Amino acid sequence: MRILEDTYQHKGLRKKLIDQLRAKGITSALVLEAMYNVPRHFFLDSAFDKIAYEDRAFPIGQDQTISQPYTVAYQTQLLNVHRSEKILEIGTGSAYQACILAEMGAWVFTIERQRKLFDNNKNFSYKAKYPNIKFFYGDGFEGLPTFAPFNKILITAAAPFVPPKLVEQLKIGGLMVLPVDEDGKQRMLRITKKVGGDYDEEWFDYFSFVPMLKGKNG
Ligand code: SAH
Repeated sequence: MRILEDTYQHKGLRKKLIDQLRAKGITSALVLEAMYNVPRHFFLDSAFDKIAYEDRAFPIGQDQTISQPYTVAYQTQLLNVHRSEKILEIGTGSAYQACILAEMGAWVFTIERQRKLFDNNKNFSYKAKYPNIKFFYGDGFEGLPTFAPFNKILITAAAPFVPPKLVEQLKIGGLMVLPVDEDGKQRMLRITKKVGGDYDEEWFDYFSFVPMLKGKNG
């Protein structure tokens, strides 16, 4: 069961979380504003209502997690989102990250490989607020060739390598942000696609993500 009521208490806790994210180095006012506007407790079971605004990952079923708010803010900031951009997200999970991107005015295409998590989002009424999100059940390694090219691509699971089909589906000058697995730790990578299809790499901090797995489940 979810609680879909946003009280003054929730808003107060959210404001504190935003202050923490700022203190941890998140500087983008657009990212912080979007994270203040989207009630994270809507994406969690009511059992987590009191702790939904702690800077922690939480279980969402099927052995998966909603990412830690700091991680969501960090990836979103690296993606440098602008209104009306087409963004492909791999790993819908709770759809929290997708709603943050949609709140920032992007057209969001999000893929989930776990049937159950995909189905949960079908019945999630809050998403009616964001007609700019399209949900897909499939394997993120394949991307969405029909809807390509994308301005930006965001992977929210630990990738074993930079998925070549996703690079193909990125516009020239476009960015892809992804955690790349290095012996069980994941290092954040941002690539910028160049003319000719090659890309530049920028490496950032280490994080902890669930693995990006091949194929569909369910
Ligand atoms: N963005 C999510 C975080 C989810 S955790 C949120 O805001 O809640 C990562 C998700 O990636 C999991 O739901 C997992 O099932 C999914 N995933 C892993 N490998 C995938 C793949 N190849 N294609 C699509 N989704 C994948």
